Amino acid sequence: MDQKLYQNVIDHINAKIMSEELIVGDFIPSESQLSKLLNVSVGTVRKAIDKLENSNTLRRYHGKGTCVQSKLIAIKNDFKNERINLAAAFRWAARLNMHEAVANHFSLAVSKDGSKFLLNPIGIHFSKICASDLILVDSNDKSTMSKPNAPDPTAWAIHGALHRNNPQARCILHAHPKYATILSCLDDKTMKPIDQNTMRFYEKVSIDYEYNGMGLGKEAERLSTILGDNSVMLMGNHGVLTAANTVAKAFDDLFYYERSCETLIGAYQTGKKIHQVSHEIATKTAAQWQKYDASDMHFDALKRILDQEEADYKN
Ligand SMILES: [Zn+2]
Repeated sequence: MDQKLYQNVIDHINAKIMSEELIVGDFIPSESQLSKLLNVSVGTVRKAIDKLENSNTLRRYHGKGTCVQSKLIAIKNDFKNERINLAAAFRWAARLNMHEAVANHFSLAVSKDGSKFLLNPIGIHFSKICASDLILVDSNDKSTMSKPNAPDPTAWAIHGALHRNNPQARCILHAHPKYATILSCLDDKTMKPIDQNTMRFYEKVSIDYEYNGMGLGKEAERLSTILGDNSVMLMGNHGVLTAANTVAKAFDDLFYYERSCETLIGAYQTGKKIHQVSHEIATKTAAQWQKYDASDMHFDALKRILDQEEADYKN
């Protein structure tokens, strides 16, 4: 197979999709028509269509023809750096065992008002997510959930509402990591100032006490109003969500919050009397954490490891 000819067919179809000469639902010309048009064999056309079908761009309907399935390939080239950063967050969250099956979701706003954002596609494990897998969705587009690459319904509802009502929160990471989730199940869900990490979150966490079912519809709208100016929201009887202006900051918050919950839950488990520092010291240390922001350094270090050990996350 001549690689160049084969790529020519893909480029030709993609160009038609990108220029909207062909839109989602349209039938593309037949294999024999494309063969004549592009002066390549029918076998070459067939291989190119196989590739586009594998990437979800086209779908063959037996006896009817080949239909445009999505603009996936056209979209994939947009927001490259944003995609790479978000993919790195998924990969590292999986390494930390913060994922849960193929549920949970991370998003990154790419429009000023937060209505357009990148999100993980349904059914892909965090440890396998690549930059190009991330889907670009628009919370104003009512047809999103009926499209072929529709996201998880709770991801769509929670992140759509959160981005819409919190445009300052560019990156939103939602997961059910073990210790944060345990804390979310206790009556007293507050972070106690018992070590330096826990003091980072002293009086800095928005807490939801009103869990009311899965994050859909009104529940998602309700959750979206609780975050306020904080970057961490403990979702009662559910999990945690961090929100910040960069992926690095949101990830750093998720990492340190889960560490802090692990320390607090571990301290509770000893059954011994816990020594909390004073309100003044906890407040001072929380303020010091605000100035000591090593989130970029942290995230860059993680990405360097991924670059060496699983560089395909950037694909
Ligand atoms: Zn959840």
